[in-house]
Amino acid sequence: MAKLIFTYGAMDAGKTTSMLQVAHNYESKGLTPRVFTYKGCDKAGECVCRLGVSRKSDLFYKEYSFLSLDLSSTAVLLVDEAQFLTNSQVLELGDIASCRNVPVMCYGLRTSWQAHVFEGANALLGLADELREIRTICSCGKKAIMAHRTCSTATDCDEDIGQDKYISVCRGCWFKLNRSCP
Ligand SMILES: [Zn+2]
Repeated sequence: MAKLIFTYGAMDAGKTTSMLQVAHNYESKGLTPRVFTYKGCDKAGECVCRLGVSRKSDLFYKEYSFLSLDLSSTAVLLVDEAQFLTNSQVLELGDIASCRNVPVMCYGLRTSWQAHVFEGANALLGLADELREIRTICSCGKKAIMAHRTCSTATDCDEDIGQDKYISVCRGCWFKLNRSCP
């Protein structure tokens, strides 16, 4: 039985960079990775990391079924922006790891800027064999775990995750910025 792994971290922590490195590692051994990212993220079938590396990828969307994939030559399934997976898609990915013996590695945010746990992240936190955290730091030096929205014109939609609209902050700074003490 292959593993289902969820790697999470705040924005700009290097999740996509890490995923693209894993894809490269498989390819350098002559193995084929299959890479997915979310269709709603304003991406044209491409995973682009903050360091400028990119690669062509398949797109998933809310109605997409991973069970329709022909994975006969796939050594690993890599899913970026995994916070946008639905509960049933995470179950499908669990089926792929368990029944088809293809490792599945998902990368994504845990919470939105409103501190809501994303549907995909919630399901993965419950189902993944292994949880890994990629760390980044707040401007105060502590570990950043939340996103603070810096752009007041951004929509309230949790899917609006344009990197120019947010900074990654620690929980203490997020509370100072978003809540007043009672
Ligand atoms: Zn801080």
